[in-house]
Amino acid sequence: SWRPDAADMMDTIPMEQVASLVHEIRNPLAALSGYIEMAQLEADPGSQNYYQEMMQEIDRLSRFTADLMAVARPISVNPDWTVINDLVEHAWFAAGRGRRPKKKAVTLKKSYDETQQIWADRDRLQQVVTNLVKNAVEALSQSGSVVEVECHDRGDHWLLAVSDDGPGLPPDLLGRLFVSRFTTKDSGNGFGLMIVRRIAEAHGGTVRVTVDGGTRVEVTIPKPDNEGR
Ligand code: ADP
Ligand code: MG
Repeated sequence: SWRPDAADMMDTIPMEQVASLVHEIRNPLAALSGYIEMAQLEADPGSQNYYQEMMQEIDRLSRFTADLMAVARPISVNPDWTVINDLVEHAWFAAGRGRRPKKKAVTLKKSYDETQQIWADRDRLQQVVTNLVKNAVEALSQSGSVVEVECHDRGDHWLLAVSDDGPGLPPDLLGRLFVSRFTTKDSGNGFGLMIVRRIAEAHGGTVRVTVDGGTRVEVTIPKPDNEGR
């Protein structure tokens, strides 16, 4: 489904205003979730599932507002030596917590040295790896079975790739994935790949997606001029 385009929206509402509008939503949301939790403690067993649904909808709204914030605000980069394996382990854990039907076993293939480090903003790069691994795992709930994460030293940059042997994507969509809010998921908001692109670009890097059987997303991160500080 196509939803209103965040990039278009950013052209008509100044970014600082988006950020303050988002706060107007987040503050009452936080209060609501606190009250719902308290009310749930006193609620009878028959209505527990209504409380769970309410909490899930609140979670969904908070994810949405956090993602909206991430595309509305300029991304600042505080780089550090970052162990790729730590990011992948965390992403793998995060990807398993969703309510995805566990029809097939999905395996993780690590194609990098476990001590491999790259010079990047750890929190931002975590978001990149988490968004890509989640997308791969979500794609594999229908078909396919392997998520592969690669990290290669390519001289002046690192190449980080997340691929899966899932259903892939129609080629005509590829150009739009990173610039507009496209989603095929009931619980998706279509911000994931836009955020990946913004973070890659904030590092001076690039992102691209190729489809060959499954889906492969490649992110490049340039090395610092003054390596080994
Ligand atoms: P969301 O995950 O919220 O839908 P994303 O920006 O992360 O938003 O992804 C946008 C869309 O791109 C997904 O809904 C899906 O249709 C498609 N997509 C992304 N990654 C994959 C993948 N690994 N395999 C198949 N389709 C994918
Ligand atoms: Mg996603």
